Amino acid sequence: MNALGQRLIDLIRAQGPMSIADFMAASLYDPTDGAYASRNPIGAGGDYVTSPEVSQTFGEMCGLWVVQTWHNQGRPKRPLLVELGPGLGTLSRDLIRTVRAAARKGFADAELVLVENSPVLKERQQAMLKDSPIPVHWVERFTDLETDRPVYIYANEFFDCLPIHQYIKTPQGWGEKMVTAKDDALTLALKATPEALLPPVAAGAEDGGVVETCPAAAAIAEDIGRMIARVGGAALIFDYGYQTCEFRETLQAVQRHKYADVLSAPGSCDLSAHVDFHALAEAFRAGGVVPFGPMEQGDFLAELGIEVRAHKLSLANPGQVKSIVEGVRRLIDPQAMGSLFKVLAVIPQGQIPPPGFTPGGAEGALTGFTDDEDDV
Ligand code: SAH
Repeated sequence: MNALGQRLIDLIRAQGPMSIADFMAASLYDPTDGAYASRNPIGAGGDYVTSPEVSQTFGEMCGLWVVQTWHNQGRPKRPLLVELGPGLGTLSRDLIRTVRAAARKGFADAELVLVENSPVLKERQQAMLKDSPIPVHWVERFTDLETDRPVYIYANEFFDCLPIHQYIKTPQGWGEKMVTAKDDALTLALKATPEALLPPVAAGAEDGGVVETCPAAAAIAEDIGRMIARVGGAALIFDYGYQTCEFRETLQAVQRHKYADVLSAPGSCDLSAHVDFHALAEAFRAGGVVPFGPMEQGDFLAELGIEVRAHKLSLANPGQVKSIVEGVRRLIDPQAMGSLFKVLAVIPQGQIPPPGFTPGGAEGALTGFTDDEDDV
């Protein structure tokens, strides 16, 4: 067992089993040995590759979305861009370039705030954004952000790394999965939990069914909702996840692009769980804003014109056509990242739907445009 694992074993021996959420928090954020605190997990040499690293068109489409949303809202003055969990800073770099080109003077006095709690990744972001045309600031937590400017918040693969609790239904009732210590190793145990403490969806589970909750994600979403309701703006959230609970566990450990064991080497692999988009949307709603989606990432990016952009980029860079086309394919192909990854948008109440989204979510028909009207 590694040093962090040994410390967790000692802690468990002293005060009893810990929740999966506490174990995740220690594995990811421990200041000396946590996966994010001590090293960079992103990119070809890390544990996994993310959409902004796959193709610059990802950040560009997000930038166009921000500009169009801002136009729809009457071009409010002094917009503030906010990225949650910016990783290497690539998404913000590509987004700022696009926003400045597409909105011109409207974003001349914009500023960027990066919400990042990893010192290692903050350094990478500083390097990536050293020539940023707009001022860049950092805060460690979203709740540290204080502003009266309209906020345009975006995040990719941020909510999936927030700590989750896991509950499993057994013939004896519900149990929360806990991490405990046995023979100098970490192992799982169950703690009896009343169904009343679980979300209502738990009532539909059969024996063996798993329900996951992420109180940290709900709290941040509600805070974001409250801020947007107060100062205006919007949020665009990308992540892999589900809309309907399938009663299966989604916690996974990934190390160097391969699945790994969750418990055997804490801090040495990336831990994440699928995002419950239904719960996230409800939390935003509780904060006072209107959620749209989730829709599939591939449909969203196609709707915004990513293929047109790839075509233009290919014409300008004839030597790189293959990698440009392959990058966009990975982002939108349902067999690659196009379907598992979803996107959720939120805007203040009483506004027209944000670009790419239709009223009632991704499944809703385009209102006002029927085949019949097309023929007229
Ligand atoms: N958005 C980036 C990186 C995703 S990895 C990309 O798509 O490439 C998750 C990022 O969120 C990392 O930058 C990590 O350090 C940060 N992060 C994770 N949990 C956080 C928290 N609780 N507060 C602030 N930042 C967090």
